[in-house]
Amino acid sequence: MAKGGDGKVVPLARKGGKCPVCQSPSQSAYHPFCSQRCADVDLGRWLKGSYRIPGEPADLADDGIPDDRNDDPDGRE
Ligand SMILES: [Zn+2]
Repeated sequence: MAKGGDGKVVPLARKGGKCPVCQSPSQSAYHPFCSQRCADVDLGRWLKGSYRIPGEPADLADDGIPDDRNDDPDGRE
């Protein structure tokens, strides 16, 4: 009696993991993404600042430059 049929393993599941954009299996050519499109999508997110780090201090304008140096440009000593 034959057991197990063909017994071949189809190498569909790569060991790279999932595409972080669409959760499809990642392709080694575009690792860790599944395609060039998803790689571009991820890059675009970075460029647009969608991946901003939470908790980052943003009070740079609170203790910034005093604006009295541009108060009276005509009355300089
Ligand atoms: Zn993808």
